[in-house]
Amino acid sequence: MSAAAGNERVRFCMQCGEVVAFDVRTCGACGHYEPHPDEPGVEPERPCPHCAHGNPVSLLFCPQCGREVDGGGGLPAGVPWDEAAERDAGAPAYLMIALALAAPLALAAAIAAGWLT
Ligand SMILES: [Zn+2]
Ligand SMILES: [Zn+2]
Repeated sequence: MSAAAGNERVRFCMQCGEVVAFDVRTCGACGHYEPHPDEPGVEPERPCPHCAHGNPVSLLFCPQCGREVDGGGGLPAGVPWDEAAERDAGAPAYLMIALALAAPLALAAAIAAGWLT
């Protein structure tokens, strides 16, 4: 019967599950560092892109302004989707018209030059 119990607090390593003394922040088995739960500001912060409020990086929505913090979108800001699609489709359409107009002229020029006679 040991009297070691009492106020000896332990916790379990989040990484490997090893029993670690509560006051020890770095696991002796795997070296995983765990910030104290009561420690303020342990999580790295980044400013909200909308209101510049500092939020923990794990947050997806800013508690200050309620907007999405992690953009994650595929389109560059300020370009509506249909406008971007139109811009992509525009070039080939112009190219087809230019070819359609140029082809008879090129043919006529070829005939005039005597290549096809
Ligand atoms: Zn560990
Ligand atoms: Zn915000």
